[in-house]
Amino acid sequence: MAARADQTTDPRLQEELLQARRGTAFFARKLNELSDAALDGGTRLPGWTRRHVVAHVGYNARAIARLVDWAATGVETPMYSSPEARGQEINFGATLSPIALRNLFDHSAVHLSVEWRDLPAEAWSHEVRTAQGRTVPASETVWMRTREVWMHAVDLDNGASFADIPAPVLGRLLQDITGAWSARGTDAGLLVTVTGAGVDGTELKFGDTGAGNPTIITGPLPAVVEWAAGRGARGVTTVGPGANGAVPAAPKWI
Ligand code: ZN
Repeated sequence: MAARADQTTDPRLQEELLQARRGTAFFARKLNELSDAALDGGTRLPGWTRRHVVAHVGYNARAIARLVDWAATGVETPMYSSPEARGQEINFGATLSPIALRNLFDHSAVHLSVEWRDLPAEAWSHEVRTAQGRTVPASETVWMRTREVWMHAVDLDNGASFADIPAPVLGRLLQDITGAWSARGTDAGLLVTVTGAGVDGTELKFGDTGAGNPTIITGPLPAVVEWAAGRGARGVTTVGPGANGAVPAAPKWI
């Protein structure tokens, strides 16, 4: 019989699992606030209805559960067979009946939570490969899911905001995003400063911190992450050569 508690005893991982499950509960709450008819409505992602977002979040849980399975068994099971298959699955999921769509989210989330719970402590370091081709330890799947559920809860566009996302999650998101820019070299001349984020209220700086005359994007952490994730420029201000009276769009992230 499977254990009822997480097998991992690593306190950091336990904290991360809590953050992922809290995010899942938050997404569930926002989804439950939507009527069946409202599922047809638009989101903060261009071209996607709420149906697409819910389908994506459901299939994402299944895909991440495949990585956890891989870590547990050593049998290679990729997240998706191809990027096209991933897109087709989302488009199909978006056509499901409201009850089927809600079941997809609920069942996939419970399944993933159980997969994590039952993953033996030593298997969390087993390496798996993400849809983007990164080789990561199984423990990374927790963060991969965390950022999906929190951000897409906001994307549902029925009242959640980036300010609802816990600060540690926002901070790690900003590290991910600015790290991706830096790896691609797309952040040249762009300095991102987060106000009031340091322990003593100082600014935290990201992006091209060595630039001579940078375009500076400034705001509180939730607003900066919202902008950096490509979700608009609410709450951020900009100065410098790239400003031109408006906040420039953030470089592509994913
Ligand atoms: Zn996503």
